[in-house]
Amino acid sequence: MCGIVGYLGDKEAYGIITKGLERLEYRGYDSAGLALFNNNDIELCKTQGKVADLKSKAESAGVIHGNVGIGHTRWATHGEPNDQNAHPHYSNSGNLVIIHNGIIENYASIKEALEGRGYQFASDTDTEVLVNLIEDIQIKEGVKLGKAVQIALNQVVGAYAIAVFDKRKPDEIVVAKLGSPLAIGVGEGEYFIASDASPFIEYTNNAIYLEDEQLAIIRRGRDVKVRQIKGDKQVMPYVQELQLNLEQIEKAGYDHFMLKEIHEQPKAIKDTYRGRLRINSGIIKMAGVDNNLEKFLNAKRIIVVACGTSWHAGLVSEYIIEQLVRVPVEVEYASEFRYRNPIINQDDVVIAISQSGETADTLAAIKLAKENGAFVFGVCNVVGSSIARESHAGAYTHAGPEIGVASTKAFTTQITVLTLMALKLAKAKGRLSESEFHNHLVELETIPDKVADSLQIDAHVKYISSIFKDATNFLYLGRGYNFPVALEGALKLKEISYIHAEGYPAAEMKHGPIALIDEHMPVVVIATKKGHYEKVVSNIQEIKSRKGKIIAIVTEGDKDVKKLADHVIEVPETYEGLSPLLTTIPLQLLSYHIAVMRGCNVDQPRNLAKSVTVE
Ligand code: GLU
Repeated sequence: MCGIVGYLGDKEAYGIITKGLERLEYRGYDSAGLALFNNNDIELCKTQGKVADLKSKAESAGVIHGNVGIGHTRWATHGEPNDQNAHPHYSNSGNLVIIHNGIIENYASIKEALEGRGYQFASDTDTEVLVNLIEDIQIKEGVKLGKAVQIALNQVVGAYAIAVFDKRKPDEIVVAKLGSPLAIGVGEGEYFIASDASPFIEYTNNAIYLEDEQLAIIRRGRDVKVRQIKGDKQVMPYVQELQLNLEQIEKAGYDHFMLKEIHEQPKAIKDTYRGRLRINSGIIKMAGVDNNLEKFLNAKRIIVVACGTSWHAGLVSEYIIEQLVRVPVEVEYASEFRYRNPIINQDDVVIAISQSGETADTLAAIKLAKENGAFVFGVCNVVGSSIARESHAGAYTHAGPEIGVASTKAFTTQITVLTLMALKLAKAKGRLSESEFHNHLVELETIPDKVADSLQIDAHVKYISSIFKDATNFLYLGRGYNFPVALEGALKLKEISYIHAEGYPAAEMKHGPIALIDEHMPVVVIATKKGHYEKVVSNIQEIKSRKGKIIAIVTEGDKDVKKLADHVIEVPETYEGLSPLLTTIPLQLLSYHIAVMRGCNVDQPRNLAKSVTVE
């Protein structure tokens, strides 16, 4: 995910583009760049770092003039964040320049074909491949820029919002979208392009939101022309009047980043398995595992090191990996692991999990594991982060930037990656038959829709939140795969609402916490079908006999728990091992609504920081 901005009009584009990039910086922030048309040429400036870094570089280089320009703030998917990989990217001739938000999945084969014809690449990005494909088509077919972009996009697989500029046609910008957002602001004699309307809201309220697989040609002094990328049909653009203020737009209409990120989970999970889950060919593709398969297959033990929510994702993976792969898994707090002289063998695989990839304790644990000869596999969200660099191999969770300090989509995408890995290893070890493997892949593919269904109960969860918002303690219970979800639910509540909460394995309740239960104690119980359902029902009985208030997360259509619980929240049915991806959703919403009702700062809770880069 990243932010793109463009301008074509009579004003100086520089200020509009850089301010717009600052507003879009929440979408991506590892590098930034811009290209302006000035003195009949493209002037380009880009850098690793924030928009502030770009501004100082551009201003000292004098790249500040021009009435047409494009800008980008990157969130790397292909190629580490550095100056060369930052956008915009030139085509080989230097005539074209492009910015891109998304992923070109088949970039490697296109790149190879272009290299065969003498094209050279200055970056490791998929984006530079696309701009050269467009140029190649322009040259070979002698077509205009719009047509060349259209032909090229018919050859690519993936997701994109792009803006392309040709210095020989300085009054025109071609844009297109599939999967990533793109809005065109329509002003008086000027046009704006952006990932969302925030960069141009003070200039115009009129915007065209391109639909997927549409391409638009924006020309000075002309109306915007929109056409379908497939089939070439012209489309009448619909100019809508925006009723939004800046604050709302940056959060895409949500009150908080956390809520936005909760709702982004269907897409985040899909983006995480996109390109990896290949149902038709019956495989899971993960380069980091494929290239080191022997290490995984020979491992006597897997050690997971992580902190906070990532540690909970690690615990879920312990259940999944041990069940599917039958290799012992230990899940360690990175902070404890690094200081307790742990036993690490050369045939251990250490999996380090961190959203930011910068967690200091996890980094130190990696160092220790490497010193002892273990193979280290990183699972992070931020491309090019320290953990990604320090690990021997790894897999990214393509969740997009997570701004809310309380982690939500990072958790579910970490579980997604770890599940893909477990399934892949189980197949390689012959622990799953072809058909079992196939069924798992098919079920995993339904998860984004089921998460979307689980989000539908928001109003009901809000109502339950209003009942319990003044509680001083909460207990969260779950068994098996859903025990770590109980821990994560309790953590979410603590983090953002400052209510004390404990997560427990449901059966452990009898060994202590049951003493806390009285008529004032809300107890959240994950009681989905499968997975020791009857045992959890008995635990619910035990709470009820002590007058605890039961909020149960159940499988759609459940009858038994409904009779006992004070409140039930339904989630769709799925495989037991995949259920944490669904049961966690109402717990995120519960903590969110309670925190809002208590007047807490949801996105920046007191005393916390998004990435803990100190030990
Ligand atoms: N895939 C492109 C890259 O890695 C664009 C990523 C983005 O959306 O920022 O450069």
